[in-house]
Amino acid sequence: MKIISILGSTGSIGTQTLEVVRQTGDFKVSALTAGSNIELLEKQMREFHPAMAAVMQPEKAELLKERTKDLGIPVYSGMEGLLAAATESSAQMVVTAVVGMIGIRPTLKAIEAGKDIALANKETLVTAGHLVMQAAKDHGVKIYPVDSEHSAIFQSLKREDSSKISRILLTASGGPFRGRSRSELSQVQVEDALKHPNWSMGAKITIDSSTMVNKALEVIEAKWLFGVSFDQIEVVVQPQSIIHSMVEFVDGGIMAQLGTPDMKLPIQYALYEAKRNFLSGDRLNFAALKQITFEAPDMETFKGLALGYEAGRAGGSVPTVFNAANEWAVARFLDRKIGYLDIIAVIEDALSVHERIAHPDLEAILETEAETYRYLEGRWAH
Ligand code: NDP
Ligand code: MG
Repeated sequence: MKIISILGSTGSIGTQTLEVVRQTGDFKVSALTAGSNIELLEKQMREFHPAMAAVMQPEKAELLKERTKDLGIPVYSGMEGLLAAATESSAQMVVTAVVGMIGIRPTLKAIEAGKDIALANKETLVTAGHLVMQAAKDHGVKIYPVDSEHSAIFQSLKREDSSKISRILLTASGGPFRGRSRSELSQVQVEDALKHPNWSMGAKITIDSSTMVNKALEVIEAKWLFGVSFDQIEVVVQPQSIIHSMVEFVDGGIMAQLGTPDMKLPIQYALYEAKRNFLSGDRLNFAALKQITFEAPDMETFKGLALGYEAGRAGGSVPTVFNAANEWAVARFLDRKIGYLDIIAVIEDALSVHERIAHPDLEAILETEAETYRYLEGRWAH
């Protein structure tokens, strides 16, 4: 029985991870955490009996403590609680399924405590990839990607020599607004942007997929996970989300991973440390499918992707600004405080005033995030 902790167990990835735990019977859960959804966290505690639980919001943590007194499971709160969950002593692996760069500190602490990582929380790699990859190396810890594209690349690289990679072909669905013009995008409402054609995910990543900022974050994520240069990462739009990504090698040969879109596959591939196990669900029927189509991304209309490449190439503290401005803007868009196209305008604005730090440590990254927020509050919040 393998013991895992799940940071962000009440979210889309968190609940699907628990479904894998439930269906396979091969895992025991040591820690569960939520931001504020204590109703669901209580249910999870009653079903999975973790050694501890944590809730970000202190008042909610107090409430949960009251409600779960009979279980005798300690409940912690705030960043301290998240760090305690990340380092819970019995865990062998930590699934990082919180959303946003709030995941940096817990991910680093989990690595320092020698836990392998099943990484869904891409914002952590985008902003602190250099620290995370170095820490993993120093502590002999393995990082298994959960993001479907990165899992596909990881699967395609099995038994291959990664120094023989020529290109990574990162596939993208193109999101719900593929083919739209800029003027059409200016009309987009929150409800429209929350409808993804192929995947059901948390609100933030669904908006990111619609702007293609998600693909930009994934380009930077791929750079860190697979040690390639930005010139070697090409985004290919494949609207059916059947090919989850591909790797081209120096001899021109291409390996790809295909399947029906189901996050449980990459989740369990990570939990089982790159070993195959049965997973129920629909199988691809090529006769019914008939075709898989491809196109180049429209980086002019979906400028977030171009900005992400630029931020990634600039490196240092610049990807942190790109990510923090996006987190700020998406939250404001979901609150209906800014318009859809403002998301990209906010990112551009924040990037244009930032003075790059070449080798930011953890503190500098968190300070860059805070500074970006302060700047945007002054400029865009009214
Ligand atoms: P969700 O919004 O569905 O879930 C996020 C989880 O994090 C919830 O448990 C939430 O708690 C918790 N959380 C939110 N804010 C905070 C905070 N400030 N402090 C502590 N915990 C917090 O997100 P997803 O599951 O969709 O995504 C999680 C990560 O995985 C993201 O980085 C995303 O990019 C990545 N990912 C997701 C995919 C998907 O299919 N969903 C695919 C590939 C990558 P609560 O429920 O209480 O709000
Ligand atoms: Mg993805």
